[in-house]
Amino acid sequence: MLRTHTCGELNMAHRGLDVTLSGWIQRSRDMGGLTFIDLRDRYGITQLVFNMEVNSALCMEARKLGREFVVSVTGKVAERSNKNLKMATGEVEILADNITILNVSKTPPFTIEDNTDGGEELRMKYRYLDLRRNANKKNLELRHRMAIETRNYLSSLDFMEIETPYLIKSTPEGARDFVVPSRMNPGQFYALPQSPQTFKQLLMVAGYDRYFQIVHCFRDEDLRADRQPEFTQIDCEMAFVTQEDILNTFEGLATHLFKSVLAMDMPAFPRMSYNDAMKLYGSDKPDIRFGMTFTGLNELVKGKNFKVFDDAELVVGINAAGCSEYSRKQIDELTDFVKRPQVGASGLVYIRYGLDRTIKSSVDKFYSPEELSAIVEKFGAQPGDLMLILAGKEEKTQTALGTLRLEMGKRMKLTTPGDFKPLWVIDFPLLEWDDETRRYYAKHHPFTSPVPGDIPLLDTDPGAVRANAYDLVINGVEIGGGSIRIHNKDLQKKMFTVLGFTDEDAADQFGFLMNAFEYGAPPHGGVAFGFDRWCTIFGGGESIRDFMAFPKNNSGRDVMIDSPSAIKPEQLKELTLKIVQ
Ligand code: ASP
Repeated sequence: MLRTHTCGELNMAHRGLDVTLSGWIQRSRDMGGLTFIDLRDRYGITQLVFNMEVNSALCMEARKLGREFVVSVTGKVAERSNKNLKMATGEVEILADNITILNVSKTPPFTIEDNTDGGEELRMKYRYLDLRRNANKKNLELRHRMAIETRNYLSSLDFMEIETPYLIKSTPEGARDFVVPSRMNPGQFYALPQSPQTFKQLLMVAGYDRYFQIVHCFRDEDLRADRQPEFTQIDCEMAFVTQEDILNTFEGLATHLFKSVLAMDMPAFPRMSYNDAMKLYGSDKPDIRFGMTFTGLNELVKGKNFKVFDDAELVVGINAAGCSEYSRKQIDELTDFVKRPQVGASGLVYIRYGLDRTIKSSVDKFYSPEELSAIVEKFGAQPGDLMLILAGKEEKTQTALGTLRLEMGKRMKLTTPGDFKPLWVIDFPLLEWDDETRRYYAKHHPFTSPVPGDIPLLDTDPGAVRANAYDLVINGVEIGGGSIRIHNKDLQKKMFTVLGFTDEDAADQFGFLMNAFEYGAPPHGGVAFGFDRWCTIFGGGESIRDFMAFPKNNSGRDVMIDSPSAIKPEQLKELTLKIVQ
């Protein structure tokens, strides 16, 4: 071995020991007769000292070493006179007596420090240098621990990790597929899996009643901070279970991860119905780290000749406690915020409940002081509070107010880093109507089972059918979701019909699954968690990219290997493909 110890492990207990360390040169400083070098490896940094008086040739050699040179150094561990107690190795240094250059390095294009001067694009191009930085290393270490703890926990409960194929079949449901041409089957394509959904269900039919896999999934979607074209799921499925069993099992996994990775003891996760989440938080992934829940105002505000409220399906507001002193400018800012197309409200009504108990609002013209008082009372507001109200179509208004609530949470600094508030959202609707294509879509996916009592509604009022589906949400982020599945051929067929599939299309795309259901499919259900997201939340990060070793940029490109890229005409020919611009 080219080392006896790592750069992160030497301390006072090693004083006097002769050691060999290998690593990268973080920085060097010449101080008169002494040269100090910080040597870095994955485990930490150790200070090396070269003394001109003791060995001038060696010291001169050390002075020539550039940043990121790879060296191996031999020397004696000594106590430092100038200790740095912030570093694990900060009480000692190595009095070097030999140094070997293992490799030279060009000057890196950005500093390999916690606060680097490198921009995002440059760091992505030289990701292998970026990954030398502490922040990235910590993130990947956390990711590794999460993976190990997941495997340990699930394995201890008899889950088997089973790999499913990456070259599968394209289906139009869900997101867009990435496709891979098949050379041996001209004109035909594989698709990369958006998830192993149908395979894990087939494993249940096969009798592997507890399956999991930490698995790559691929979705050709527009990218956002928390989306990547390829990402990782903790994908799980169980047979002979009810929804309750699944929630308990995976709450167990989540609790285990909180404990083993973050050393946090979590109380039981609350559960909230989809309807309550929408009604109280305007989101199916509510951030319950703070309150500010919605107050419905329909019965108090209608019929007073204020057209905006009279025409609205829903009038609803939040109470921003202690914000009555917001300036005109701040309120205008909030109004602009809710009117942005991404939020989509047409305007914002406010009521200030002053510290002097006066009530002023932007709708004083339409409402008497008594009527405004009644509204303030409904909000349960205190003097000093500011009420913000939106009106319009029900779901759209709920969602817009949900976005405003999160914005107010940010402005009022209502969340603390390191605080985690997980919950299960349950009782999702099975289907979602799309006005544009005039058809129902599966809210979760087409294999999700309706709540048994609601099955007759599939014929009469499909939109009202509830699903046996659930999401795990932490701090306003959907960490995962799943459902109890349909395991009966006729019901699955019916579901495809409701989704607008012809019998032929359903048979062509999912015949293999429906056939399997004819050979003793057990009742089953499962869940999948966004592994990158979960790591990001636990690591207190902003973007899932920071928790992936080699992520793609905003345009889905890997700028380091320069991909995607054109392929050679011969390759195209072999694949019987032609580029049509
Ligand atoms: N396969 C689903 C997904 O990727 C999760 C599940 O239902 O288990 O969202």
